[in-house]
Amino acid sequence: MKGGLPSRINSLALLLVFQTNPYPIMRPIIAFLVLSVTRSLAAEAPLRALLVCGGCCHDYEKQSVILRDGIQARANIQVDVIRSLDNSTKPYFPMYENKEWAKGYDVIIHDECAAEIKEMPYVQNIVDAHKNGVPAVNLHCAMHCYRTGTDLWFEFIGLQSSAHGWKKPIDIDFSTSEHSIIKGLSNWTSVDEELYNNLKIFETAKPIVLGSQVQGNGNKDTNVVAWTNDYHGTRIFSTTLGHQNETVADGRYLDFVVRGLLWSCDKLDPAHLKPYAGPNGKFDTVPAREVVATPAADAVKKP
Ligand SMILES: [Zn+2]
Repeated sequence: MKGGLPSRINSLALLLVFQTNPYPIMRPIIAFLVLSVTRSLAAEAPLRALLVCGGCCHDYEKQSVILRDGIQARANIQVDVIRSLDNSTKPYFPMYENKEWAKGYDVIIHDECAAEIKEMPYVQNIVDAHKNGVPAVNLHCAMHCYRTGTDLWFEFIGLQSSAHGWKKPIDIDFSTSEHSIIKGLSNWTSVDEELYNNLKIFETAKPIVLGSQVQGNGNKDTNVVAWTNDYHGTRIFSTTLGHQNETVADGRYLDFVVRGLLWSCDKLDPAHLKPYAGPNGKFDTVPAREVVATPAADAVKKP
């Protein structure tokens, strides 16, 4: 790879050596040591991802671990996890109150199910981190989150979905696009899954995978089930697949998600498609937000 971060680090380090070292005879030795250290650091540094999960309707306790381990087994990425223990449609993550919440991460994996969280600036803070350059991967119920009554969340996602029908197998079709994310992937049929509808596809989005599912009338519906989005210059990858643990744990699903994740970081290459060998990152849980009791509610409780 030419001209990337490693070469810029090397150039800066060498410049420092030649400008500050008063003993010219030592310069080649110091330069060699500096180059060796910066090269090995650059080669070994994993990407850092944050998986945000929790909320309604899905087994996030298991899926958080399946995703973390499945991603780390396929790509040189350390995955931190933050999981809400709230299984309602209002999982609350205090970190989103802070505008700098995504600082230090190369990519965020949104796996929340939070349709009823609408407050500002909370939701604005989430999308602003991505607008300011942090890539994102959005999985399944992430598409149905943060219904503020505006397009704020859907512009970030690139596609607006509002609902799904029954749970039946989905035929997943990788043949309609030549996008690098799906290169080499083969069609497969899922277990019983949810086919999300497509209300609106924004101009910044590019569909890359279709899914077909038989409906009650015997006909098949075909919708976009994965796409990319250009969100103010930031790469966003999304798939609506992933309701069931069996799907999330399917090696074909994990291969697909990992390719999308690396693409979002502009790192979809053999150097990054190798297992992460370091220790697990942080795994934090946050409790459900306490509802502050009102005097009226207290009065009802007391006889
Ligand atoms: Zn679901």
